[in-house]
Order: sequence, then C-alpha cells, then structure tokens
Amino acid sequence: MTHLVEPTWRDVLQFAPTTATIERHAPTARRLQDVHSIFADQLACQRLLAANPLIYRVTQVEDHNGEGDIHYGLGILMPGKVGREYFMTKGHIHAWRPAAEVYIGLRGRGMMLLEDERTGECRAAPLVANSTVYVPGYTAHRTINVGDEPLVYWGVLSSAAGHDYGAVAERNFRLVVVEKDGQPVVMARTDFLAELQGAHA
Ligand code: MN
Repeated sequence: MTHLVEPTWRDVLQFAPTTATIERHAPTARRLQDVHSIFADQLACQRLLAANPLIYRVTQVEDHNGEGDIHYGLGILMPGKVGREYFMTKGHIHAWRPAAEVYIGLRGRGMMLLEDERTGECRAAPLVANSTVYVPGYTAHRTINVGDEPLVYWGVLSSAAGHDYGAVAERNFRLVVVEKDGQPVVMARTDFLAELQGAHA
C-alpha cells in the first residue's frame, strides 16, 4: 500500500546559481558600511565608503530545526578589493564548536581562510566551481573572492551549529589575502599592517 503525496517547498527548492537566489527565501545583504572593520587598510576603506559597494549576500535555508536536521545557505561574494585586500565575508565560528560544515563551490574563484581556535593553526583553501572545502569543528572560516566574477557557493551544516560572529570580530583572522603583482597572496595580518604603515608613512 502506497501513500503518494505531492512534494512541497519543504522538500524541493529552486535556486539560481548566477544570482544566488532561492525561491521563498530572503537574502541578507552586507555592504561595505556593514563590514568595514574587517579590512586592514582603513584609509582605502574610507575612500570606498562613499560608494558603499555590495560586498556579499547570503540566503539561509533554516526551515528544518529538529534533531538531526540540516541548515544550508547560498552565498554570493562580489569581486573587488579594499586597497589590496580582496572582498571577503565577516567570517564566523559555530556557536556549537564541534559542528563542521561543507562548502560547495558553484561559480567563480575564491579562497577560504580556516583558523583552528584551539591551536591557532591557519590554512588557506581554494574555493572554486566543482570543488568542496571541508570546515572542521572549532574552526573559524571566512570566504574571499580572488577572481573577477562573483563567487557563488553553498554551505551545508547541522541545524544545531549556530553562528558566533563576536569571537571573530574581536581579533579578526591572523591571515589576510591581498593582491601582489596581480596575484592573490596569503600573508600574516601583522606583516601586511607593517607594509601599510610603511606605504602610508
Ligand atoms: Mn559556518
């Protein structure tokens, strides 16, 4: 005996990989004004603030919240730089620290900074179309667009994970991704700040 019923929007959602929109779900937009403090070069930041460009949009699907359920979100991160530093997300660590996440690249060329909160160990992983990045538990993560088109990706994680932005906002990431001779390079924030001080002196 079968009990066939029609699937609803709780079963199936359509999304657009070019605009990173999901039916029935409203995006959250972050403009430079909202995230200005994450960038190292505050003089360059001030110059861009008049235009207040869109940095990224995230659309979260958090419709299933029982034990064992999953949340997922579609992100679009614009191409651009603040000074030499590429546009990036605020970054966060999960409120439930052991919760891991998988990122799935759909479009564009990006990187992820992964910083283990317990050891301080940092990694920079490529996030590009048709590849995944595994974000282990206890690891702060930030997405960076190092290409010249929008970077579009999914993030999929436990519905119990939660987001802690405060821990990252306090001290920022130890690494930065900046343009050097037309290429993205990963360097220590302290070294980049020292370079800026020299350049602005
Ligand atoms: Mn996350």
